[in-house]
Amino acid sequence: MIDNKTIWDVVVIGGGPAGMMAAGRAAEKGARVILIEKNKTFGRKLLLTGGGRCNLTNYEPEMRKLVEKYGDSGKFLFSAFSKWDVEKTLDFFHKRNLKTKVEEGGRIFPVSDKAESVLKVLINYLNEGGVKVLLGIAVKEIVTKENRIEAVQLDNGQQVCGKSFVLATGGKALPLTGSTGDGFIWLKNAGHTINSSEPSLVPISISDKWVKELQGTSLADVKITVSQDDVKHITKRGMVLFTHFGISGPTIINMSRTVGDLLKNGKVVISIDIFPSLGPGELSIRLQDLFAGQGNKKIKNVISSIFPVSTIVPAILDLSRINPDKPCNEIGKKERMALVHTIKNIPMQVEGLLGINRSIATSGGLSPTEVDFKTMRSRIIPNLYLSGDILDIDRQSGGYSLQICWTTGYIAGNSSI
Ligand SMILES: Cc1cc2nc3c(=O)[nH]c(=O)nc-3n(C[C@H](O)[C@H](O)[C@H](O)COP(=O)(O)OP(=O)(O)OC[C@H]3O[C@@H](n4cnc5c(N)ncnc54)[C@H](O)[C@@H]3O)c2cc1C
Repeated sequence: MIDNKTIWDVVVIGGGPAGMMAAGRAAEKGARVILIEKNKTFGRKLLLTGGGRCNLTNYEPEMRKLVEKYGDSGKFLFSAFSKWDVEKTLDFFHKRNLKTKVEEGGRIFPVSDKAESVLKVLINYLNEGGVKVLLGIAVKEIVTKENRIEAVQLDNGQQVCGKSFVLATGGKALPLTGSTGDGFIWLKNAGHTINSSEPSLVPISISDKWVKELQGTSLADVKITVSQDDVKHITKRGMVLFTHFGISGPTIINMSRTVGDLLKNGKVVISIDIFPSLGPGELSIRLQDLFAGQGNKKIKNVISSIFPVSTIVPAILDLSRINPDKPCNEIGKKERMALVHTIKNIPMQVEGLLGINRSIATSGGLSPTEVDFKTMRSRIIPNLYLSGDILDIDRQSGGYSLQICWTTGYIAGNSSI
């Protein structure tokens, strides 16, 4: 229970990474802060990040390159990152005894490989500043008067009054963690623009049976191309992870937004080049040499040696229309070239994107044009500050979402008092 008469300096709604950072910073500056979280525990989504290991940021000390990772939204972030960037984030966690390590692609994880270690730092930060915490209580609505927020109405009937309010209720991705988009409704009612919310960073479902049969295996360092009507739209090098529904992995997830946009216009094909460093001529010679040494053996048993995953062989022979039991010495130039073509261009038919329940992020949210990123203050409601996934910011996977939470959370907390 809380005292209904108290007017808090800062009221923070949402106990995810952004809200915890904001509450901790405001309290560190001496404010009387209350943090309201509808789950019984903090950071439910944070604990799932990075497969439970929490990819908390990405090692990118150069501002220009960091901003590029946020696509069209990058232009809003210069002022925010100039106040709180990756280095400051790492300093914050290191000073609080969280040891980190850098993995492939600059992804930074705690050395413990446990998201709990990151959450522990944030909970300690709240305790250090004496933040009053309400867990298991949801905010039902915000109470405004003359274009300012006066209080929030809780689902237990109480009201919490405050001078400033930080909204950190997240987006709509993985709603079972508590991020059900409540903040979007309040913002819209208060006159803000909410860009429509769709799943973005998601795995992709594929209709081809052979893809599902490869579930649990992966191909590292392949070239992945997304096409529509034979026009190539995007090509990236990276890993493809085969699953029971289709494909996943960081590179695929980062391409999902483009795939989603293209699907609105028609069919989409994703093709893989298994040997991106070998030209078709070189690959043909390599196959010729391979077949020459083992002429009497069946092709299915011979070519498996060149692939990182032998279970892909039946699909490749089938797509090349080659009888798997054919001896190598009966494979002519035409069939060899068909094989080369398939290996460098294995097509997969996209069925769709996995939905909001599997999404790491949603595109959409509060329009960044309505926020002053120097302070994270709303341009419409002067005592409202915004942070984290509630903002409509394009981002790639790789720690960039949480970096937005640390940056905007810190700035919101810092300027809300
Ligand atoms: C499976 C998965 C893996 C991910 N992995 C990574 C990763 O490795 N690296 C990375 O950078 N990003 C990752 N992300 C994205 C990252 O988790 C989010 O960007 C981040 O959690 C957003 O933080 P937030 O504080 O803005 O919102 P959230 O974490 O969504 O927290 C919002 C909080 O507000 C609370 N809330 C909502 N409505 C109310 C209300 N009415 N009253 C009170 N409380 C309310 C919710 O219960 C919730 O706890 C991942 C996401 C998912 C789903």
